[in-house]
Amino acid sequence: MVGSECLFCGIVRGDVPAEVVHESDRTVAFRDVNPQAPTHVLIIPRRHEPDVAALAVAAPDDVAAIGAAVADIVAGEGLDDGYRVVFNTGASANQTVFHCHAHVLGGRRFDWPPG
Ligand code: 5GP
Ligand code: ZN
Repeated sequence: MVGSECLFCGIVRGDVPAEVVHESDRTVAFRDVNPQAPTHVLIIPRRHEPDVAALAVAAPDDVAAIGAAVADIVAGEGLDDGYRVVFNTGASANQTVFHCHAHVLGGRRFDWPPG
């Protein structure tokens, strides 16, 4: 599911509206439409790959760019005392959009192990 069929490719192109909070040459970050914490931002690579493992093989610099975007979002949202970064990967982990994305969650406590 690439290009016109992919929701997150639509956000990268600007065809699908989103509350963008951070952009770089390799990434776009926007607020999740169904937030699970006071801060819930999704970071996506502009390049379409289905998950972070595929992205690491195809474009390792994009994985580093996601990490750099995490740092900027943590600073911008004031999450210095703790936050969670999640890549749901595959159907049994509840991945629903098959364009790689990191969830950055913060502003509340998080349990471990996760549900
Ligand atoms: P996944 O379950 O694949 O890890 O996460 C997909 C995330 O995308 C979900 O948290 C869902 O709320 C979010 N999402 C789905 N559609 C849209 C949309 O159109 N706009 C935004 N901003 N988030 C979306
Ligand atoms: Zn895509």
